[in-house]
Amino acid sequence: MSLSRQKIAILGGGPGGYEAALVAAQLGADVTVVDSDGLGGACVLTDCVPSKSLIETSNAMTLLNRSDGLGIATGGLATVNAARLYNRITDLARAQSKDIAARLSAENVRVIAAEGHLAGPHTITAGGTRLEADAILIATGARPRILPGAEPDGERILTWRQLYDLTELPRDLIVVGSGVTGAEFASAYLALGSRVTLVSSRDRVLPQEDEDAANLIENVFRRRGMTVLSRSRAASVRRDQDRVIVTLADGRTVSGSHCLLTVGMIPRTEDIGCHEAGIALDKGGFIEVDRVSRTSVPGVYAAGDCTGVLMLASVAAMQGRVAMWHTLGEAVHPLRLGHVAATIFTDPEIATVGVSQRAIDAGEVMARTQKLPLATNPRAKMAGFRDGFVKLFTSPGTGVVLGGVIVAPRASELILSVSVAMEQRLTAEELAQTFAVYPSLSGSVTEAARKLMEFTPDSLV
Ligand SMILES: Cc1cc2nc3c(=O)[nH]c(=O)nc-3n(C[C@H](O)[C@H](O)[C@H](O)COP(=O)(O)OP(=O)(O)OC[C@H]3O[C@@H](n4cnc5c(N)ncnc54)[C@H](O)[C@@H]3O)c2cc1C
Repeated sequence: MSLSRQKIAILGGGPGGYEAALVAAQLGADVTVVDSDGLGGACVLTDCVPSKSLIETSNAMTLLNRSDGLGIATGGLATVNAARLYNRITDLARAQSKDIAARLSAENVRVIAAEGHLAGPHTITAGGTRLEADAILIATGARPRILPGAEPDGERILTWRQLYDLTELPRDLIVVGSGVTGAEFASAYLALGSRVTLVSSRDRVLPQEDEDAANLIENVFRRRGMTVLSRSRAASVRRDQDRVIVTLADGRTVSGSHCLLTVGMIPRTEDIGCHEAGIALDKGGFIEVDRVSRTSVPGVYAAGDCTGVLMLASVAAMQGRVAMWHTLGEAVHPLRLGHVAATIFTDPEIATVGVSQRAIDAGEVMARTQKLPLATNPRAKMAGFRDGFVKLFTSPGTGVVLGGVIVAPRASELILSVSVAMEQRLTAEELAQTFAVYPSLSGSVTEAARKLMEFTPDSLV
């Protein structure tokens, strides 16, 4: 059979599914995507795109509120028009979903808007259609985890997917959960003008992240007026007319106008026929895959949040592409999670790539570390901020860049220099010899590299 006759059926039209569809179509396959909730998936319609759009507005508010120090008189405190903000966000998400539909259509990808199920390793049924395929990709994503005793009502007790239906900004927002999603929304709503209480079951916010970065963000949150309750596990959340009451495991209560629940995700794998098709799931219900996205059943691949590998749109998209390259006989690099750049879109942002400080401290990786505070960066002084740093990790023997952490406004853009250095196995010396613009925040990256060139006894390791 020629490659152009391969039939591919994809369950789920988020980044895992639609990016795979584009690759497969470009390679000449006959591709069908089945999606129930809208192309672009939760990523475009409810999660990544809406949250980052909200954060753009909150960043603008931060700038406006700092403008006094920059010599600008705004004539009072800037305020947010919630209806306009939420309309902008939902319009933008819908427009992006439409763009994806247009791209798929231009590549002759067939789209079935229906809920689909596996009816075997080579068959999907959806909306009365039975699709037979040479290969199937499952990319059904995940949904917010709901705590028993804290069921959302869509009005005041909310998952992040319900925020954009509100008509006003929460006056007094309690965010339960201090992982990436909780920290991002707590940061954004604080800047937008809400009073924010962040309920964290752990010692500090962002417990999985670089400790220096997490401590810095927690200090910034507190300094800006957020109440951060550490070691405080939420046991239940209930409505009391127009208030919400969060009861903590130790019996304390916190009250606010709204409660946002950000306590993780569960995979959408329960009712799609994985069991019947013999596809192995782990104990959390995530589909088990290898580094080229193969499941336990030949010809069935899986990508994205339903695999729980690393819940990022960029990873979902790469898993989907890798699956298609693999099944269509292209050369393929297995997924390299150690090379994924990620950002937490708090203010300031936290961007990371490569090895972690935790692995270095645990002795799993030998590395030299150089951390430079942004407070000494000339561009940061001009822009009027001082919270942030650049941290670089290099191999003690060769000086090769192993990764880094950047905490700064737009760290998501700055981290690329570290990613490129790592990907291309550049040394600190090569990075240091690269011109950075003066003045620029990226100047701190090359300066950290210069400092790593300095002789220290461990340079000899
Ligand atoms: C608040 C928030 C912010 C985020 N921000 C970022 C970010 O800044 N950067 C980043 O990289 N990642 C971010 N993420 C993560 C990112 O959104 C996910 O990793 C990404 O959406 C995963 O893509 P996916 O294709 O696996 O699933 P999804 O985007 O969830 O898409 C799955 C699709 O499958 C469909 N589907 C499910 N079951 C069926 C069925 N039975 N039949 C038919 N269709 C079905 C759904 O309708 C949906 O359209 C964020 C996540 C959250 C929660």
